[in-house]
Amino acid sequence: MVHSGIYIHIPYCKRKCTYCNFHFSTQFNTLKALLEALHTEIMNRALEIPDILVDTIYFGGGTPSVLSPTHIESLLHTVYSRYPVQPCAEITLECNPDDLNREYLQDLHSIGINRLSIGIQSFSDRDLQWMNRAHNANQSKEALTLAAATGFDNISCDLIFGIPGATDTEWLQHLGILYDNGVPHISCYALTVEEMTLLEHRIRHQQMPALSEEDSIRQMLLMFDSMTHHGYEAYEISNYCLPGHRAVHNSNYWKGLPYLGFGPSAHSYYGNTRRWNLSNNQLYSDAVKNGKLYYESETLTRRDRFNEFLMINLRRIEGIRIAELEQDFEEYARDTLLELNRLQSEGLIAVNEESYTLTKEGKLLSDSVIRNLFQI
Ligand code: SF4
Repeated sequence: MVHSGIYIHIPYCKRKCTYCNFHFSTQFNTLKALLEALHTEIMNRALEIPDILVDTIYFGGGTPSVLSPTHIESLLHTVYSRYPVQPCAEITLECNPDDLNREYLQDLHSIGINRLSIGIQSFSDRDLQWMNRAHNANQSKEALTLAAATGFDNISCDLIFGIPGATDTEWLQHLGILYDNGVPHISCYALTVEEMTLLEHRIRHQQMPALSEEDSIRQMLLMFDSMTHHGYEAYEISNYCLPGHRAVHNSNYWKGLPYLGFGPSAHSYYGNTRRWNLSNNQLYSDAVKNGKLYYESETLTRRDRFNEFLMINLRRIEGIRIAELEQDFEEYARDTLLELNRLQSEGLIAVNEESYTLTKEGKLLSDSVIRNLFQI
């Protein structure tokens, strides 16, 4: 059996958040054709991974909660009709708080969604307006209460730190609301300036100052201590959970298990091949419908796989296992160990008998530490 994940990309959002460069559209007129294409793609690729066993199904976006429960259930049926899915599979839906009313949550629960990933981002209405989010802080609090009352006990929430004007006290308060609600999994991201976003446009045209790296670093350090204090394990650099609540879907990505991604812009990985679908709703739907090519692919080289191994493992709590490095990437092991030891002397890497991990200081500089180790 080849344990695998399924990712379904729902490329629609009610609004364009100021910082976001994901693939989505706020025009819903292509939805019907896109759903038809999704069903077709899911059905057509059933034999792509021989002997597949699906452990996880993940609806990501965009905003999957813009779909009706009927649409989601129908997509799940298509998956179940073509793929063997574990009876206890983790089935996650990314959702935004403004979509989570009582009836919608009950419907999600009854069609088999057993994990919610809620895009809260902040509990400050000032931040939410600045980010152009479609929800307010009260809707987020209400959504958490309703989700728990509906029986969802596997919930993840996204928060953003380093937002201009947000104080350290506010940041700790936002985390505190999640602790108080018993949210078992929290993903935290520093606000970053991505190309082709309103945020990047505003900074480039001097309509606002550049983001403060100092604020971001300080709030990240506060978060490390606060999460530890409240019993959350930092099992990946951006992901924290109470014991037993790691996200199976993402953990399987990080373990290098195969996954099939359906929908525009979705990525798939199997063997040494990575492929990605067209990032355009209309072009994707037309191509799938007409049997034309709707994706590009690449074969990963040894060097690509090594760099990915470094990047994924250094972000994880387990770090780089020395035995795995020496066994799987013998040709790069000696140089990498030398560089890891040098980074250890700078306090960025910690080492024990089995593995190398990022220190707290290393996590603050993770991108450059990892880039240092890359083979180019
Ligand atoms: S809701 Fe999510 S995917 Fe949609 S624009 Fe906002 S951040 Fe991006």
